[in-house]
Amino acid sequence: MNEGTTNKTNDSDAWSIEDSKRLYNIEQWGQEYFSINNNGNLAIFPEQDSNGPCIDMGEVIDEIKSHKINLPVLVRFQDLLRSQVIKLNETFGRVIKEAKYQGQYFGVYPIKVNQMREVVEEILDAGHDYNYGLEAGSKPELIAALALNDNTSSLTVLNGFKDQDYLRLALLGRKMDRKIIIVVEKYSELIDTVKIAEEFNVEPIIGFRAKLSSRGSGKWASSGGDRAKFGLSIPELMKGINFLKSLNKEHWIKLFHFHIGSQITDIRTIKDAISEGARIFCKIHKLGIPLEYFDVGGGLGVDYDGSRSTEDSSTNYTMNDYVEDVVYIVKQICDMEKVPHPNIVSESGRAITALHSCVIMNIVDQISTDSNQFPTECNDTNHILVRNFRDLWTELNEDNFQETYNDAIQKKDEIINAFKLGILSLEERAIAETLYWKICHKVKDIVKHVEFVPEELREMETTLAKQYLCNGSFFQSVPDHWAIGQLFPIMPIKRLNERPTQLCTLVDITCDSDGKIDHFINLEENSSTLPLHNLKEGEEYPVGIFLTGAYQDVIGDMHNLFGQLNEIHVFADDEDPTDFYIEEMISGHNCESVLSDMQYNTSYMAVVIKKQIDKQVQKGKISPRDGVKLTDFYEECLRGYTYLKK
Ligand SMILES: *Cc1c(COP(=O)(O)O)cnc(C)c1O
Repeated sequence: MNEGTTNKTNDSDAWSIEDSKRLYNIEQWGQEYFSINNNGNLAIFPEQDSNGPCIDMGEVIDEIKSHKINLPVLVRFQDLLRSQVIKLNETFGRVIKEAKYQGQYFGVYPIKVNQMREVVEEILDAGHDYNYGLEAGSKPELIAALALNDNTSSLTVLNGFKDQDYLRLALLGRKMDRKIIIVVEKYSELIDTVKIAEEFNVEPIIGFRAKLSSRGSGKWASSGGDRAKFGLSIPELMKGINFLKSLNKEHWIKLFHFHIGSQITDIRTIKDAISEGARIFCKIHKLGIPLEYFDVGGGLGVDYDGSRSTEDSSTNYTMNDYVEDVVYIVKQICDMEKVPHPNIVSESGRAITALHSCVIMNIVDQISTDSNQFPTECNDTNHILVRNFRDLWTELNEDNFQETYNDAIQKKDEIINAFKLGILSLEERAIAETLYWKICHKVKDIVKHVEFVPEELREMETTLAKQYLCNGSFFQSVPDHWAIGQLFPIMPIKRLNERPTQLCTLVDITCDSDGKIDHFINLEENSSTLPLHNLKEGEEYPVGIFLTGAYQDVIGDMHNLFGQLNEIHVFADDEDPTDFYIEEMISGHNCESVLSDMQYNTSYMAVVIKKQIDKQVQKGKISPRDGVKLTDFYEECLRGYTYLKK
């Protein structure tokens, strides 16, 4: 039962990159951007075209190493951002033309989904020719949007709760001739807007956000419905219209908005919301309000697991299906109601950014329940309980494995109880526990070859799975996995032409037992473990967590003060032999910066350490030379990366 031999036989089994593609479902979640090349490395096609440039992820890692950038690292593929922006705008353009729809599309990117300046700038640049704008939901986001988006033909849509300064900033934008739309989320904002418009002597553009009765499906269902936090109820909407009419300002209302939640998994929910929204839109229009824009909010989902289903981490529709539903339903209802087709606005964030970034972490160690942990020879001087356990082990075979397994579980309990009562020695307990794991591993191997596997044995794979230790923090890099159980595709970067022989779960280096991943996108039937390769001495084994570009890499938290990752921005370049170049490298947090964020005075701390070491030097307990070395080392660590140096 030597593990090495098992692996050897498996290694020689035929395994191709096609097998890896199926196993990790990469062609499904990767949307033609991600695949595996003939070297067995993960590869990226930034143009969604297997004949276009192809970036070898293994080469990217080698290059960042040559620049002395350590893993874990956050990698952004800026081309994927551009490509998604263009795809969304082109799709709307095409469907609008096909449908002979009279309005235009004015998309906006919601900054909150990924606020990184380079991300927002890239999106604006890619969307410039489509008059693609921005959506802001807070004062700081508005401050950024005002400075970043200088295209006066594109929209800036303002959502979120607003104080008077927020509204003043919006009207400052109006003074600069920008199409800034104040979306009223609660009634009092309307009163304030009217007041501040007078103060600024400028015409505001107002949007009304409605609470639809249609609710999103999935995790964000509470963004819609009567109890939604944002938006006006139908009575409030009527009240608002009448209020502006009483001031003869009803022409200020130009946009109708709703947002029923993010990652809508079921296309029927979208159809439902668009129908209800379009109906309300038409009725408002008929009240004599010259609405111009119909804003469907966000919600366009990402198929994280590639299953094309209504599971929480998937969607049962494509971007094209979504766009067709929006355009055709609005057209149909407006035609029925004899209302002119409005311009369509959408606020897709997740679908634009999710694909463009990933996190690469090294596996630095493994924690396993492997056999051979302690020598199990025992003799007649050992307690009868231990000897019985040994007999179970020696007599285990293909005919009695189920019985033996059940006995082993029972006997393990007896052993622990006997130990607690002082009957067994520590050594005897070690022997018995080792025998227990040996039995489990052998039963697992037997189970592989039998036809009928009893229910209680099926979970053994998970119990016996190895835990691979990732040099990173899941709280920092995939907070939604921990917070709401969202799944992300995870797979190795290299050796994809080799059979993965180890069933694993992943744990991170935070001192928190929640820092683990034991639920993976559904690969075959068992989703609680991920097949990975055996670790080789002296060889790095990098693993990627993909589709982290929306809501993840910018939310992160400071659990254990690990902080931000080193980050690189990769661009495709057909002229370069590697098909890529790294434009930017941004250092992650070092220990000094995370500590300063928590109000520590790191220079003072270095002085305290120096003084204490000096004292030991004066006492003669440390040599002066060693004293200097130790002080320097403390300071060097302060300046160093927070993650493991490995
Ligand atoms: C968060 C949010 C969005 C973005 O939604 P996605 O599902 O990421 O596209 C759009 N509009 C509003 C009002 C939001 O709050």
